[in-house]
Amino acid sequence: MVTVQIGMHDQGLQNISHHVICRFSDNSSKTPMVNMPDLLWTNTGIRYFRYPRLSKNKNLKHGVFTRRGGESASPFQSLNTSISVGDLPKHVTENLSRIKKTLGAKHLVLMSQSHGTKIAILEKSCLKDTMPAREADAMVTRVPGIALMVQQADCQSVIIFDPVKKVVANIHCGWRGNVRNILDKVIVRMGREFDCRAKDLLAAVGPSLGPCCSEFLDHQQIFPKSFEHFMIHKDYFDLWAISCSQMAAAGVSEKNIECAGICTRCRTDLFFSYRGEGKTGRFATVAMLV
Ligand SMILES: [Zn+2]
Repeated sequence: MVTVQIGMHDQGLQNISHHVICRFSDNSSKTPMVNMPDLLWTNTGIRYFRYPRLSKNKNLKHGVFTRRGGESASPFQSLNTSISVGDLPKHVTENLSRIKKTLGAKHLVLMSQSHGTKIAILEKSCLKDTMPAREADAMVTRVPGIALMVQQADCQSVIIFDPVKKVVANIHCGWRGNVRNILDKVIVRMGREFDCRAKDLLAAVGPSLGPCCSEFLDHQQIFPKSFEHFMIHKDYFDLWAISCSQMAAAGVSEKNIECAGICTRCRTDLFFSYRGEGKTGRFATVAMLV
């Protein structure tokens, strides 16, 4: 497996490193996040990104899969992971199997995501050859070999990993997830179920709607007042910063949070974007203990 810095070997990936913007709420909406690296691009048959900090942990495998390298035809071209968007099931099945193979996963678990705050805890008893989609927006496990998958097209995936207790969570977090603070709920639950300490956690916020494209004309109706701090100009919000700030408030060290800084709506060459494309596919972020 060859891992290279993004932008060096692929023309389509230039400019990505310029998109990195993630800020905190403690008066610092202009302060760049501490020690926030770019993603790495992994040059296998199927192409996917990895977070540099998370990649250093031998107990964790993960990938942010681009839309490239799959079977699906337009408008789902090509590595679409969702069967509910209108794509052919046989194509989705093949795509999922490629993802599974790429990570060497024994079990790939999907969610039926609803922008809620339900958290599924996966124990050993969950291990079966066919695993039904969980009704949830977050999954947590300490069982190696279970690949937790989040499907996205503008929403964030957030991976939270505890290298001490060896527990991993993968969370689907759109703006509704931010409003309901699902990230805090997962961190609290990890503490309760697995004794995880927030200060040990490593977190990564994936490619998703960036501040450049996060326009919410009805924000006064849908957002709490506290989000106004993250309004970078009229009606535009920095959702990446909101997620980072919510995790920091839950006790995660700022230096332990990575943010991809890639806007899905700006980069439909790499990712699916609901806002940018309407009828389209869903790309995947997967995390698995090994
Ligand atoms: Zn954008």
